[in-house]
Amino acid sequence: MHLVIIGNGITGVTAALTVRRLQPGARITLVSAESAHHFSRPALMYVYLGDMRYQDIKPYEDWFWAENRLELVHATATGLDAAVQTVQLDSGAVLSYDKLLLATGSRGRRGTWPGSELTGVQTFVTLPDLELMTRDTRQGVREAVVVGGGLIGVELAEMLAAKGIRVTILIRDTRYWGSVLPPEEAALVQRQLDAHHIVCRYGAELQEIVADETGRVRAVRTTTGQELPCQWLGLAIGVEPNLDLARAGGLETDKGILVDAHLQTSAPNVYAAGDCAQLREFARGEVAVEQLWYTGRQQGETVGHTLCNAAAPRPYRRGQWFNSAKFFDLEYQTYGRVPAEPVPHEHSFCWQHPTREALLRINFRADTLAVTGLNVLGLRQRHDTWAAWLRAGTPVTEVLANLGAANFDPEFFRQYEKVIVASFNQRFPQHAVQLRRRKGLFRV
Ligand SMILES: Cc1cc2nc3c(=O)[nH]c(=O)nc-3n(C[C@H](O)[C@H](O)[C@H](O)COP(=O)(O)OP(=O)(O)OC[C@H]3O[C@@H](n4cnc5c(N)ncnc54)[C@H](O)[C@@H]3O)c2cc1C
Repeated sequence: MHLVIIGNGITGVTAALTVRRLQPGARITLVSAESAHHFSRPALMYVYLGDMRYQDIKPYEDWFWAENRLELVHATATGLDAAVQTVQLDSGAVLSYDKLLLATGSRGRRGTWPGSELTGVQTFVTLPDLELMTRDTRQGVREAVVVGGGLIGVELAEMLAAKGIRVTILIRDTRYWGSVLPPEEAALVQRQLDAHHIVCRYGAELQEIVADETGRVRAVRTTTGQELPCQWLGLAIGVEPNLDLARAGGLETDKGILVDAHLQTSAPNVYAAGDCAQLREFARGEVAVEQLWYTGRQQGETVGHTLCNAAAPRPYRRGQWFNSAKFFDLEYQTYGRVPAEPVPHEHSFCWQHPTREALLRINFRADTLAVTGLNVLGLRQRHDTWAAWLRAGTPVTEVLANLGAANFDPEFFRQYEKVIVASFNQRFPQHAVQLRRRKGLFRV
């Protein structure tokens, strides 16, 4: 089998390594426009900050690819002819495939504002974005504006603030990440932003980008009528799947490349996975286009199995939702489903440390007490433990009695189980819990 994979991100590389393991004789070619070798996209910010070098964010040494007989082609795939099973490259070369995987990822949304093509205005998704930002913020930037208060918006704020640049974030919501975080979590993140002197303009949207006489951004005007001076503008309003190649090949697309449960596209022997794929069918509480590192890896592994055994294709099963991030110094993890606003028939128990930056929220069903979701900020919980509790619909009383088992590292992380359980018992005396003592001391 000759497997051609377009895209050497986490999805493409995981698929390649899975196929190499399952089918040692397969010929595998990885094509990527962005970089010769795979690198960790979430770690791009650390290169900007100077904490890591580019070679440090490459998970594999350069010799690894040849050693594992993975052929790397640094080029853009511009054409796809699914009828004769070929891919055309911008170098003029044509690759024939038996199986093709599109793992083309996504690109930053730029919006349609006047001035979005000015110097000093950019998204932050790719290696060229990193290079551009490094160049354009090296000198002469005193003030910057970031549009969008999601995870990448906060990353940009942290990066710029570390260089001594004053940052304003324009946020459409009325509180930080209001569509995702409940008010208590949003307030805790806000304290981080305030502590790092990041100005947040809530309810404000970008209206126009203003140029100076050299064609560089000079200011932005907002929908609330303000003009904010800035010499750099970051657009962090989300990402959209890279669909050019799929469209050139006549594949069915919508927001992403449409795939069935086996990640197969509308063309025979062509699959799509990761950021660029859109599931035709998905379960309640799941999303059709998943743009996360972990889900890219999961989809890459799933499709790798199917590529090696088309007679018994493996369906993609997302499993429990989880995500993690860092807001400056504050770690955040979320498991299961924690809506930003309360939902009927569900209780939301939230504990917060009175003085430290630490919060734990457990959502559970009012009838069966089964846990449905967890948010933690400033604490670290064990993924496996929470995934098992959520999968089994474990009652909150059982979870709290054993909360110590989910403490990521009781040796190094403060243990708040005792006060958390006491707080729960105060709020829900009818379900009072007795904490099962584990080895080690409880510190409060
Ligand atoms: C700044 C930043 C921080 C992030 N942090 C997190 C995080 O903390 N946690 C998390 O879960 N997720 C995070 N994400 C999201 C995560 O990085 C992505 O979900 C993941 O990288 C997607 O992997 P992928 O392999 O599907 O696509 P990509 O990593 O986007 O790889 C696709 C590759 O295909 C190439 N390509 C596209 N079209 C062609 C073509 N026609 N020819 C040749 N090559 C092509 C692209 O250039 C790209 O190199 C972050 C994203 C960004 C931008």
